[in-house]
Amino acid sequence: MNKIALITGANKGIGLETARQLARVGDIHVILTARDPAKGAAAARTLTDEGLDVESLGLDVTDAASIAAAARSIEQRFGRLDILVNNAGISVRAGPARVSAEPLEAWRRTFDTNLFGLIAVTQAFLPLIKKAPAGRIVNLSSILGSITLQADPKSPIYNYKLATYDVSKSAVNAWTVHLAYELRDTPIKVNAAHPGHVKTDMGGDNAPLEVSEGAKTSVALALLGPDGPSGAFIHLGRPLPW
Ligand code: NAP
Repeated sequence: MNKIALITGANKGIGLETARQLARVGDIHVILTARDPAKGAAAARTLTDEGLDVESLGLDVTDAASIAAAARSIEQRFGRLDILVNNAGISVRAGPARVSAEPLEAWRRTFDTNLFGLIAVTQAFLPLIKKAPAGRIVNLSSILGSITLQADPKSPIYNYKLATYDVSKSAVNAWTVHLAYELRDTPIKVNAAHPGHVKTDMGGDNAPLEVSEGAKTSVALALLGPDGPSGAFIHLGRPLPW
């Protein structure tokens, strides 16, 4: 029986590469989702042209009706979901970099996608993940969400303060820990991933990692065996400080 995997924000960047690498495993049917169905279909076509088992589905993580429709479609067609990768994310640069001056609208917009969207998608799909033998939930976080490293003047990210983005990812980390606690007596594992600084539209052209490397953490957490961690914050197999 093939596993069913669903990835949000997968029409480009790390999400698209995660779809590719999961489909290459061989026994996984990948649902590549995108808020723009045409972009999702085009991205899925590039992967099916590579001989991979991928289809696309519209899913805007900020739109309750879109989330509900996607969950209904997966329920009707498959009756379960083995892997959910909450990959969709935005970084809004609306104002000055100072946290004290960042407009509330930028906080709301960032949290709508990066946190509330992730929560809404997870809540909608959790009943289907519980029907899978050993569900896996991967939440795309960022090292910039590490409060420990943000507070340490000696840390390499101390001077990288993208306030709304960083705080939204700290909240994703906290949500991950709380969900892992709730699911601690189930086979489901939920973890937060830092992909690295990756060459994408978000990461920029000067980022050191290619997407092939950037998708590895999501893929590894999606494929964790029964002995793998839950409620952890991981980059390429190593835990990061919260
Ligand atoms: P990206 O190339 O900008 O891709 C982001 C994806 O999210 C796009 O497919 C985008 O769709 C989608 N998206 C945005 N809002 C959405 C919504 N409301 N509903 C559904 N999809 C939505 O970014 P990336 O670098 O691949 O980032 C992927 C994840 O990794 C993000 O969560 C990001 O925060 C995290 N991350 C990235 C880096 C890095 O260096 N790149 C580092 C740390 C963490 P559209 O094409 O329609 O905009």
